Amino acid sequence: MKNKIAVIGSGISGLSIASILNETNEVRVFERKSTIGGLVHCDRAQDVLYHRVGGHVFNSKNKEILDWFWTKFNKETEFVQAKRNAKIFFENRFIGYPIENFLYQLDADIVEKVMAELVDINKVGAKDPMAYDNFETFLQNTFGSTLYKLYFKPYNNKIWKTDLSKVSMQWLEGKLPMPRLLEIISANIIRKEEGEMVHANFYYPKSGGSQFIAERLAYGLSVTCNSSLEEIFIDNRSVKIFGESFNHIIYTGDIRKLPDLLTISSDKSFKYNDQIKQLRSNGTSSVLCSCDANDLSWLYIPEPKFKAHRIIYTGNFSPTNNSDLLIESHRSSCTVEFSGICTYEEMLLELKMLPGNLTPIDYNNEPNSYVIQDHETRKIIQAYKEYLKPYGIHLLGRFAEWEYYNMDKAMEAAFGLKEQILAANKKVF
Ligand SMILES: Cc1cc2nc3c(=O)[nH]c(=O)nc-3n(C[C@H](O)[C@H](O)[C@H](O)COP(=O)(O)OP(=O)(O)OC[C@H]3O[C@@H](n4cnc5c(N)ncnc54)[C@H](O)[C@@H]3O)c2cc1C
Repeated sequence: MKNKIAVIGSGISGLSIASILNETNEVRVFERKSTIGGLVHCDRAQDVLYHRVGGHVFNSKNKEILDWFWTKFNKETEFVQAKRNAKIFFENRFIGYPIENFLYQLDADIVEKVMAELVDINKVGAKDPMAYDNFETFLQNTFGSTLYKLYFKPYNNKIWKTDLSKVSMQWLEGKLPMPRLLEIISANIIRKEEGEMVHANFYYPKSGGSQFIAERLAYGLSVTCNSSLEEIFIDNRSVKIFGESFNHIIYTGDIRKLPDLLTISSDKSFKYNDQIKQLRSNGTSSVLCSCDANDLSWLYIPEPKFKAHRIIYTGNFSPTNNSDLLIESHRSSCTVEFSGICTYEEMLLELKMLPGNLTPIDYNNEPNSYVIQDHETRKIIQAYKEYLKPYGIHLLGRFAEWEYYNMDKAMEAAFGLKEQILAANKKVF
């Protein structure tokens, strides 16, 4: 008999696991919003494609994920493969990214200080990033205090809006390449453009942006929109949602809401419920704009005098992202991103200070986008997973696992969960 599996949420995590399990199980996806996609949702405003949260591009270093992904899509006909061309906007100049590879573009006195610090760090020897107690110490001891003050601190302060010394290192395990002194020196001598570097390319749908990815993953699945899960009812015999029993429930929504969704007939409540509810996150506000034509993919904006932290030149990712009007007037489109919730008026003021003759088209406020991990977070989430497992409830995704997942990492987590569910089935039947 097929397992009945409910997936709560139709973001990349929910759609991936549903798609993976659908062949051999009876899978139903429930989405509280009227459209699928979660964070990757895109629509069009004045016929310009708008990634309402971030400009999502795809790539993975994991062969299993790539192989699976390309069974769903045609790489040649449905995607463009683009080269990253990111820059940092600093003192009205465009500096290459990552900054340590483009030190030669900074003023000589800064370069001298940075190099002296990097050499000193190298003498002590590079420490494993996970050996650092917190994000601030890691950044200072990896890049030196000058680069930290100039770029890493102001940029990360904007994104995280929290004391970086309280942010644990676990969130970036395996996510950032660690620079070595020799590589930095070579990069600054050879002066390669970013697009020529390894891993500096990405895939992007020819049409529809990341919404295209969500729609395709949802193909053939049973997805019910406008279905917000408000209660998971558990008694000795079954786990029910929407009045129906399921063998497994895969929850991809906000973990902070889960303790109040659970109605359990036994009184075994989870000991860290209060900590779960108090996990912190930041939102993202964005303005879709038309802009002067350019060849950039991202522009990072570290200086505190700007509220925005990034511009994503989504109009350059695929020509179909721009309206005919923009193309005719030799303009393009981009999304200006702000961490936290900003009013439209605040964002409009900022547009005047930023480069590219930005003209607003539409805007959006997303209350949750960046999850903040402190030193206890991983332990608590792991304990919650163990607590929920006997009921057949599983956590998956950025907000359910409180992980800094990109789309490919969310897919990887879905494959990991599939194994766990198969193992659980073996035990039961
Ligand atoms: C600014 C920004 C830029 C990014 N750029 C990239 C990028 O370029 N490339 C990349 O790979 N990744 C990128 N990411 C990461 C990517 O967005 C995430 O990895 C991915 O979207 C997470 O998907 P998810 O399904 O875990 O969560 P979500 O997308 O949040 O999906 C959860 C879904 O569950 C639904 N839901 C919640 N509660 C309930 C409920 N009670 N009942 C029913 N439904 C519910 C929600 O409505 C939502 O649709 C970016 C993220 C951000 C914030």
